[in-house]
Amino acid sequence: MIHADRALLPQGWAENVLVEVGPDGTIMAVSPGRPVPAGAERAGLLLPGIPNVHSHAFQRAMAGLAERLPEGEASFWTWRAVMYAFAGRMTPDIVRAVATQLYVEMLEAGYTAVGEFHYLHHQPDGQPHADPAELALAHLDAARRAGIGITMLPSLYVTGGFGQPAEAGQRRFLHDLDGYLRLVERLRGETAGRADEGLGIAPHSLRAVPPDMLVDAVGAWRALVPDGPVHLHLAEQVREVRECLEATGRRPGERLLELVRPDPGWTLIHATHLADGELAALAVSGAVAGLCPSTEGNLGDGLFRLADWLAAGGRLAIGTDSQVVIDPFEELRWLEHGQRTQVLRRTVAASPEQPHTGARLLTAVLAGGRQALGRPIGRIEPGARADLVVLDADHPRLVERAGDGLLDSLVLAPGKGMVRHVMVGGRWRVRDGRHREHDRAASAYRQAVRGLAP
Ligand SMILES: [Zn+2]
Repeated sequence: MIHADRALLPQGWAENVLVEVGPDGTIMAVSPGRPVPAGAERAGLLLPGIPNVHSHAFQRAMAGLAERLPEGEASFWTWRAVMYAFAGRMTPDIVRAVATQLYVEMLEAGYTAVGEFHYLHHQPDGQPHADPAELALAHLDAARRAGIGITMLPSLYVTGGFGQPAEAGQRRFLHDLDGYLRLVERLRGETAGRADEGLGIAPHSLRAVPPDMLVDAVGAWRALVPDGPVHLHLAEQVREVRECLEATGRRPGERLLELVRPDPGWTLIHATHLADGELAALAVSGAVAGLCPSTEGNLGDGLFRLADWLAAGGRLAIGTDSQVVIDPFEELRWLEHGQRTQVLRRTVAASPEQPHTGARLLTAVLAGGRQALGRPIGRIEPGARADLVVLDADHPRLVERAGDGLLDSLVLAPGKGMVRHVMVGGRWRVRDGRHREHDRAASAYRQAVRGLAP
């Protein structure tokens, strides 16, 4: 039982809110305007936990290691070569330690659920592990240790480009459709009946999955779980758009719309380079744009068309992707500031209906994250998981801030240490800014990555 002076509920801010949590970690009742009952935990400012819809956990170990000038020009593709070299050295034990450290960092930052877009499936030579699900299970194990909610998104990866064979560095990622669907089935069994876990599928991208396999994989998944999550990288890079045009005569968004019917179960990661027609059609489809602003900036991807997407009614969520930044508020600030430097005006995400920029962004990614991860999260309401963030109401950066204006400060003028306590599924995972596994996870991480950097 938690009593909050102020809490962000689906209908907006409310005062003196009593949140009752059942023994299974589900919110049972939410009652505004109530006095503090005996035995209640006091919270000044209460927010729903924030969903992180796009993570490649192993990349946490190489964050910051691809910033040196290479020979020739530094592009997404030269970064990817470093990433492949790194991926080649990962063992299940290293992955488990790296993912545990990462998920602890996410919880301390206010993320309470993660979508793990997992493509590092096999041994370095491409042979499956004795248990083909071993690396996927290492991520689930890490999520359980850290106590973060997780939607496992095993990725289907087949080709090295449109109609191109896979490269040596991609051997660990590859499946045929039958092997892939066996992995999905296995993970469905692993996550079934666990309220803080979910499952979706992740055909990697149009460049990595042939069209017929994309259609078949989505069809097989939809037959199993009609509204289950489907995640796909879309139009991240200009070169990818050009290659798609050359191979199919269509831009990636147009090609996707031609092959499948994206619906609210779909999450389009990046969706950076969209032309008018595909942007409008994808926005009205109800699919979520899974934006990763710090990574998109780091990799020189380009800027998502945020104003046009929002004007068309598009939905959005955020992800940490390459793990260079683990902070939901910084991610949203990047999103808004990137737009401002391009369109040369302020408050790009705001609208007459929601004039507060920070509030518009945060409420959008709570709703979009819930949709993208396919779990009852992102809302403080009966039936939702008790995934909660308690902010420091006395933080100098939040003093004299109220209502949606407080969310503006949180996103656009933040200070250190604003996230005090974090709960997932009714259990406190972070207290006073620190995860209970903080030291143990960091020590295991240091051990695991020793000698890993090139
Ligand atoms: Zn990604």
